[in-house]
Amino acid sequence: MAISREKLAIEGGAPVRAEPLPPMYPGGMMIGDEEKQAVLAVLDDKNLFRFAGPSKTPSRVSTFEEKFAQHFGTRFALAVSSGTAALHCGLVALGIGPGDEVILPAYTFISSATAIIAAKAVPIIVEVDDSLTIDPADVERHVTPRTRAIMPVHMRGAPCDMDRIMAIAKKHNLKVIEDVAQADGASFHGRRLGTFGEVGAFSLQFNKVITTGEGGVVVTDDKILYDRARIFHDGAGGFFGGRKEPVSVPFFPGLNYRMSEIAGALALVQLGRLEGLLQAMRTRKARIKAAIEPTARVKGVGFRRENDPAGDAAVALILYMPSADKAREVARALSAENIRAGSMFNEGVPDWHVAFHWKHIIAQNMPTELGCPYRCPLYQGEVRYSADMWPRTLDLLGRSVHLDISPLLTDTDCDQIAEGIVKVLDALL
Ligand SMILES: *Cc1c(COP(=O)(O)O)cnc(C)c1O
Repeated sequence: MAISREKLAIEGGAPVRAEPLPPMYPGGMMIGDEEKQAVLAVLDDKNLFRFAGPSKTPSRVSTFEEKFAQHFGTRFALAVSSGTAALHCGLVALGIGPGDEVILPAYTFISSATAIIAAKAVPIIVEVDDSLTIDPADVERHVTPRTRAIMPVHMRGAPCDMDRIMAIAKKHNLKVIEDVAQADGASFHGRRLGTFGEVGAFSLQFNKVITTGEGGVVVTDDKILYDRARIFHDGAGGFFGGRKEPVSVPFFPGLNYRMSEIAGALALVQLGRLEGLLQAMRTRKARIKAAIEPTARVKGVGFRRENDPAGDAAVALILYMPSADKAREVARALSAENIRAGSMFNEGVPDWHVAFHWKHIIAQNMPTELGCPYRCPLYQGEVRYSADMWPRTLDLLGRSVHLDISPLLTDTDCDQIAEGIVKVLDALL
């Protein structure tokens, strides 16, 4: 403990920063003239629907799909209405349904689990490790004869250990559907996330790296999976012309998860911003991390372990405190310095990114009395959830302090964030 120190803002001292940090909507905050022009052009030619319209302009959604597939090095990309829709389409494309189990982590946005349930399969929720991504060892412990797929989720921009996940999948003959919603553009050992598994599912919702407000993308190299996803995302598909290629598989009932041309126009512009955003976040995160490293070491504060630091989308900096109480205290003290920070799990603060809080899933509340998929006659397993069944995940998240790394941070902002972290750690640890 330092003997004389600067008084913390939370104790009435002067805050390190006078102003709050910029908001964390990486692509969203870049929306400018290019997006405006792109949207206005869609309105001008009144082609708001990708498969039909009064003018001859090529579909923006189709162009976006081509560009996205090129950018990510996949054969196919299918634009859809949300990340949840992308997951649902991917699961259905893989043929996952009644009787099947899909393994996913206890730290992910709830729609990873709800997409599995919507596909009529049973989510098997396992621990994360100190990378805050799915723990491969716990995946392996939960494989049963009913397991059909693993859903690794690249949380807060950072890659899962895809070498180990793919090895487990191969060994047990499982499919892999990657949830890349929080890591658009990130990679693992030089290969883009979303391209390891049979299917990758991206989100373009407003909080994600690039955005159309709402939107998503399914990627795959497999023509059959692509066609099945296309059929499912567009149950009206049989009616409309304008398809690039006919489907090669038998038609089955689908929904409507299509992307609108306005979203497609936005998506095209935002895709062009992706590498710049990643670059901006990576340099800012590296600058802050380097500046706080010596203090963190002395104070026994750890960094989230990264399976591949170079591939990280760098949307967040996550620090491990010695205890959950300290994490809350540090987060509060940083916020008082005008450095927005939060602890990542708190029993009393509902947050649908942590399975502990998925009360209706834990209770297996379903829209019908029968309780499918859990009590589906085709389901041979028996799964019971309880809020305390992921102790390692809750411990890690409870001790975590999370800071956003906005691409808008100036060098001064970065230096003040580092200064604030050092000030708070010096005072509280
Ligand atoms: C945002 C998110 C989703 C869902 O994406 P939407 O576009 O909001 O439907 C799925 N998984 C994770 C990990 C997410 O963060």
